[in-house]
Amino acid sequence: MTTISKDEMPLRWVLTDHICRICFSRVLTRTTFDHRKVFKCTNCDTEVEGDHVTALCCCGMKLKGSKDAGVRCVLNTDRTPLNPSVIIAQQVDAIPATRK
Ligand SMILES: [Zn+2]
Ligand SMILES: [Zn+2]
Repeated sequence: MTTISKDEMPLRWVLTDHICRICFSRVLTRTTFDHRKVFKCTNCDTEVEGDHVTALCCCGMKLKGSKDAGVRCVLNTDRTPLNPSVIIAQQVDAIPATRK
């Protein structure tokens, strides 16, 4: 009879509806034993600790000067063979004009 130590329980990653801002692949999240959140890309393996998925996903894209770039991860409602992604990054807000 074999026993599995509880210390060796597999990490439980949960799929989010957000995509990595580096490679546009889906982002996973898990909560650590001390209740911190970790976000990890399924493709490029980038791992970021943060309060929110925007620490890694496209929603957190910033312009120079740390302004919100207005990009959000959205469900792709028009999937095609050329663009089969479930989640895509889309410009949802007009970039606010800084010059007057
Ligand atoms: Zn990635
Ligand atoms: Zn996002």
